[in-house]
Amino acid sequence: MSFENLNLHPSILKAIADSGYTEPSPIQAAAIPEVLAGHDLMASAQTGTGKTAAFILPALQYLTEPSQSKSRGPRILVLTPTRELATQVNDAARKYSAQMRVKTVCILGGMPYPLQNKLLSQPVDILVATPGRLIDHLERGRIDFSRLEMLVLDEADRMLDMGFIDDVEKIAAATPASRQTLLFSATLEGTIAGLAKRLLKDPKRIQMTAQQAKHENIEQRLHVVDDLAHKNRLLQHLLTDAEVKQAIVFTSTKRDADMLAEDLFAQGHQAAALHGDMNQGARNRTLTRLRNGAIRILVATDVAARGIDVAGISHVINFDLPKFAEDYVHRIGRTGRAGSQGIAVSFASGKDALHLQRIERFTGHAITPHVVPGFEAKRPMRSSAPAGKRGGFGNSDRRGGYEGRPNGNRDGYANRGGQNRGTGAGRPASRGR
Ligand code: AMP
Repeated sequence: MSFENLNLHPSILKAIADSGYTEPSPIQAAAIPEVLAGHDLMASAQTGTGKTAAFILPALQYLTEPSQSKSRGPRILVLTPTRELATQVNDAARKYSAQMRVKTVCILGGMPYPLQNKLLSQPVDILVATPGRLIDHLERGRIDFSRLEMLVLDEADRMLDMGFIDDVEKIAAATPASRQTLLFSATLEGTIAGLAKRLLKDPKRIQMTAQQAKHENIEQRLHVVDDLAHKNRLLQHLLTDAEVKQAIVFTSTKRDADMLAEDLFAQGHQAAALHGDMNQGARNRTLTRLRNGAIRILVATDVAARGIDVAGISHVINFDLPKFAEDYVHRIGRTGRAGSQGIAVSFASGKDALHLQRIERFTGHAITPHVVPGFEAKRPMRSSAPAGKRGGFGNSDRRGGYEGRPNGNRDGYANRGGQNRGTGAGRPASRGR
């Protein structure tokens, strides 16, 4: 299959060729014809599979025809859970529409209202937004959805997890019933199925192949550790390896991200933190420095790092395992971008055995144990179960055994920074120094 077979406008094909893409990714090949045929769509596709182009390219195809309506509101609306993902979708839309006259606007929380008001008062083709801020504008009557043709819910599962469900439904209710709706999500079961039932009409369903097939270019390694001091020593050792071009180190909490980044910086690494307590300007500056190579080690929480698409990330290091199995998939997808090779390292101690097992069952992939001579764990881990029961967990299952993600908390569980670890023994400030 080639892009030429997809019936896309020559100006879109030119932008695709300029992006260096030679053939559609599987999700693009499956989704684009269905969307162009006018169907609603629910698709499960991981980040890194090219899902953004799977909805932006057909959206642009619609924009090659003039709108039938005289109104100035957006013709395409993309909702994303985080500002970072919105920014990336916005960048992708601009890249793929480089040969067209398309006005793309990004509306994010944390940005000044007056500029957004001005942008929304002008004609808009594509609007990319996070739900909370968009609701504010909607309630102030600043958005006219009367000519909206397509609504895209990107990473819908995450929007639900972050408590955006009411906002998403309110926004959808303000758009024309005639719209086409596309829903992308890691899982299509449970709450997502309910949402899809309410918002989509007779959708085509695209389930990309088993999760494990999508990360063939990422080597997944497990390092068994005894305690925090052991993690710190091992991390320091791993980061001295010249093979680590750029790495994202994941911690459970914002506070740990700050402290670990400070420690690494003090050890002479070009390290910085990225989390949801930072204002948007600081987050953008950090991402720019990551992109231009000024930061080699980014210490991040899940929500802040979601959607980061930086080609130079050679390693992802799970300093703490993610609470939810699907976050593991999102985390490791930060490396091995666009077909390159990546390494994903996870630290786990004996108490993480059950947790690790859940992750392995979710991905259908047993993570290979690695031992660095001189850094052996004193206490071996209970052998984690082989990835016998393959396939994803349903919604209820993935919460089993974990603290639920607080609903309504727009930056996800990372907000509970510090609470889990307190200030007693094992506090990250004492990281092995
Ligand atoms: P996404 O899953 O949308 O975050 O895309 C992941 C990465 O794949 C991005 O860096 C895209 O630029 C890249 N990409 C998207 N489509 C293709 C394609 N057909 N061929 C090669 N790279 C692609």
